Amino acid sequence: MTLPDRTEIAVIGAGPAGSTLAAALAQRGRSVVLLERDRFPRHKVCGEFLSGESMDVVDELGWRSAFEEFGAPTMTTARLTAPDGATLSVDLPRPARGLSRYQLDAFLFDQACRSGAHTFDGIEVQRIEALPKRKKRLHLATRLEQRIIHSQLDADLVVAAYGRRTSIDRRLSRPFFKTRSPWVAFKGHHQMNEPGCADDLRGVVELHAFSGGYCGASFVEGDKLNICTMFRADLLGPDGPADGGAPFDFLRRVNSPLGRRLAGLKPCFERPLSVAQIPLTIKQPAREEIFFIGDAASMIAPLAGDGQAMAMEGSLILADLLDRHLPTVPLEQWNRIWRRRYAMRIQLGRLFNAALTRPKLSAPVLRLLNRLPGAAHQLVTLTRG
Ligand SMILES: Cc1cc2nc3c(=O)[nH]c(=O)nc-3n(C[C@H](O)[C@H](O)[C@H](O)COP(=O)(O)OP(=O)(O)OC[C@H]3O[C@@H](n4cnc5c(N)ncnc54)[C@H](O)[C@@H]3O)c2cc1C
Repeated sequence: MTLPDRTEIAVIGAGPAGSTLAAALAQRGRSVVLLERDRFPRHKVCGEFLSGESMDVVDELGWRSAFEEFGAPTMTTARLTAPDGATLSVDLPRPARGLSRYQLDAFLFDQACRSGAHTFDGIEVQRIEALPKRKKRLHLATRLEQRIIHSQLDADLVVAAYGRRTSIDRRLSRPFFKTRSPWVAFKGHHQMNEPGCADDLRGVVELHAFSGGYCGASFVEGDKLNICTMFRADLLGPDGPADGGAPFDFLRRVNSPLGRRLAGLKPCFERPLSVAQIPLTIKQPAREEIFFIGDAASMIAPLAGDGQAMAMEGSLILADLLDRHLPTVPLEQWNRIWRRRYAMRIQLGRLFNAALTRPKLSAPVLRLLNRLPGAAHQLVTLTRG
C-alpha cells in the first residue's frame, strides 16, 4: 500500500492503544492512517498478562474467534510472594489470558488493517508540525536497509499512541520528560527444564517482591513462561546488576520462592530484552491539539497488569468521542473523561508499586492479608475498571 499525502486521522504507534483505536475508527467509517516505527512481529518488554477487561474490547470489536486461535492460557489466581517466602494467593476479579506481545501486537495491527485502516509498519514519526486550521503535518522516516527515506503526511487530527516516552514528547515539551525515572525492566521467555516442573504455575500469575523491585512469572502461548522484572536502576552496576551477574541470575537471590521458580527454567532468548526510563507519573492526555492514549497518556504501574487493557479500552472510548464530535475537536472532553476514568487507578498503582518494592512493608502486609482474604480481593479490584 502507498502512503497517502493526507488523511482525516493519523495515529502514531501501533501498540494495543494505536491499533485498537485505528480499528475502531475505521469500523466507524473514518479515514485513518496508522504508523508504526517497528516492523511486526517483534518481541517487547511486558508481563504479557492480558486482564479480563482487554477481552471485553476483543469481543466488542468482533475478534474473539481469531484471538482464540493463539491458545493463550487462562489465569484465575494471582500469587504474591515476599523475599522471606511469605505468600498470598488471591482470586483474580476476572479470568485473564497470557499472550506474547510478539503475537498480540501483530494480531491487533492486522485487525486494524482488516477493519479498513491504512496501516504501515517500519515508519517512524519524527516530528509533528502545526499547520493552519488546527491541521498537522507529520514528518516521517522509513529505514530501507542502509537508506533513510523522508516523507510527510498531513492530517486533520493526530492521536499519539506511541507509548511511554519518545523524542516527540521532548519536542512537545511535555513536562514529565524532564524527570528521570528510576525504573528499568527486563523480560524473557523461558522453557521448563523438565516437563511439568512449573505445573503449579498453570492458571496463576506470580508476582515476587524484593527490595527495589518485583518480578512476574506466568505462562503465555506455546507453553512458554514469561519472566518480566522491573527494579530500580541503581541496583545495576556499570556492567549489570550490582553483583556482576545477568539480570535473571541476580533475581535468584533476592526472593526465595522466585529463586526456586527460576531454577526450574531455561531461557529461550539469547539475552533478555530491556527498557529504561519507565515514567509512572500522570501526564496530560491532550495537549497542543493532540490526543494521547495508552501509555502516551500515562502509564499504570506494571504490577497492576492492566496497562494493555487501559490502552485498548481507552481507545474505544476515544473512538466514540471523536466519531460523535468531528470535525469539532473534543480536547477538553477527552481530558475530563480520561481523568475521571484513569487518574485514580494510576495513583493507586503508584502506591502499590511503592509498597511492593519495600519488603519491610510487603512481607507483613502479605501476612495480614492472608488473614483478610476479602480485603486482598478488594485491593486487586481497585486498580481495575
Ligand atoms: C516491565 C513492564 C511490564 C508490563 N507488564 C504488563 C502486563 O503484564 N500486562 C499489561 O496489561 N500491561 C503491562 N505493562 C504495560 C503495557 O506494556 C503498556 O501499558 C501497554 O503496552 C501500553 O500500550 P500502548 O499502545 O499505549 O503503548 P506501546 O505498547 O508502548 O506501543 C507504542 C507503539 O508505538 C511505537 N512508536 C513509538 N514511537 C513511535 C514513533 N515516533 N513513530 C511510530 N511509532 C512509534 C512503538 O514502536 C510501539 O509499538 C507492562 C509494562 C512494563 C514496562
